[in-house]
Amino acid sequence: MSETTAHAHPHVDVKEFHPRAHAAIHNPKIRQNFRKAMDGLMAKRTAAFEGWDLETLRDLGANIRLKALSNLPDLLEQLEQKLTENGIKVHWAVDGDEACRIVRDICVARDAKSVIKGKSMVSEEMELNHYLQDHGIEALESDLGEYIVQLADETPSHIIMPAIHKNTGEISELMHEKTGTDLSNDVEYLTASARQQLREKFMNADVGVSGVNFAVAETGTLCLVENEGNGRMTTTVPKCHIAVTGIEKVVPSLEDVSALLALLTRSATGQHITTYFNMISSPRKGEELDGPEEVHVVLVDNGRSSIYQDDELLDTLRCIRCGACMNHCPVYTRVGGHTYGTTYPGPIGKILMPHLIGLDEGRHLPTASSLCGACGEVCPVKIPIPDLLVRLRQESVDGDRLHPAKVRGHGAKRSTGEAMIWKGWAWMHASPGIYRLGTGVAAKFRALQPSKAGAWTDFRTVPKLAPKTLHQRMKERGQ
Ligand code: SF4
Repeated sequence: MSETTAHAHPHVDVKEFHPRAHAAIHNPKIRQNFRKAMDGLMAKRTAAFEGWDLETLRDLGANIRLKALSNLPDLLEQLEQKLTENGIKVHWAVDGDEACRIVRDICVARDAKSVIKGKSMVSEEMELNHYLQDHGIEALESDLGEYIVQLADETPSHIIMPAIHKNTGEISELMHEKTGTDLSNDVEYLTASARQQLREKFMNADVGVSGVNFAVAETGTLCLVENEGNGRMTTTVPKCHIAVTGIEKVVPSLEDVSALLALLTRSATGQHITTYFNMISSPRKGEELDGPEEVHVVLVDNGRSSIYQDDELLDTLRCIRCGACMNHCPVYTRVGGHTYGTTYPGPIGKILMPHLIGLDEGRHLPTASSLCGACGEVCPVKIPIPDLLVRLRQESVDGDRLHPAKVRGHGAKRSTGEAMIWKGWAWMHASPGIYRLGTGVAAKFRALQPSKAGAWTDFRTVPKLAPKTLHQRMKERGQ
């Protein structure tokens, strides 16, 4: 089991979720940017699945992920063996810090001064960019959205579309200020300008770092899904390629990838297939003209093996990072991704982050949900997100007697005063005489009833105690 390290956004106090949510709700620009983007994504997803037997496909996706997870230790060993046979060097990292050190050591061994990065949420989890910069190695994001948030010194607000919180005008101003691009609302122009600046960096980068969507154990193949071609350049132009991935991304065979890919692209962006689908199976071979001389894979645990030990929480690891749960979440679409203060925002973040940062840090995350169930309904691999949220809520207070608490920091929300009130409440209800006495006294002194009950009454009215108890009224009626 691994102990994990820094995973919340640097300099952001995860516990300050409520003030940030309050500010976001009252920020019309954030609400407009997210509403517009999420409405578009939801419509595209619906259209992309038209004519498909979606439930059967979701069942298939869920079963593939369940099968892979049920056999995870063996699959990881098989993956390591195949990758090694293919000439890819495999590294294991127990947490984000170790993963960062591995990447740095590879860079140092190659005397690398600059790294170009493809999109990778695991590298966000590791805070790799800051780490490399602190060690004198330049790390530049090449995915357009990631490039924008890096220019703004921000973190991604969505796992698929990192800069979704910004509109074109804001991006134009940012690029003008940071890179001297002309102010323009022409998306083509802004994209071309970013492309030009990145192209030079690609040519000069010593190392390329990418994520992995699926790691195929049977063949030792790393699959990478992307739209911009930056993933292909990151993994082929620099002389050294380092892929970082969570240990749960392994699947048994290439056949499994096709079903998961169909679900991933449609659920994420409403595309039937992305523009690029990369399959990396080895470094450049002798007779080949391009590709990296060295390929490394860093398999990152970072709390995943701890999730793996619990039969219920294990479902969290099915995730294929499509972002559909976020796009359909009524909380996420109103407060935006930065409000969560965590690497993974929205519903997936609410069930994943407590394992990575502990429930003491992330105690508010499982409660930032209306439990409407939309996330569970759209999840392509049928993760029962609402059930997991309820489980984590229980653990954040006291752990569940049926499932001895396993999440780090469990019980952080437990308040002795509240626990005593509930204990008294249970005791009163277990004894009819005391119950009648208690409700009778409460009805008599109802004028003293407080009109506030903490945050619960910020948007609700306290129900007034009735002047007479039900028993008294029945008695008066002679019943
Ligand atoms: S939890 Fe499901 S819907 Fe959300 S990102 Fe993961 S796979 Fe997609």
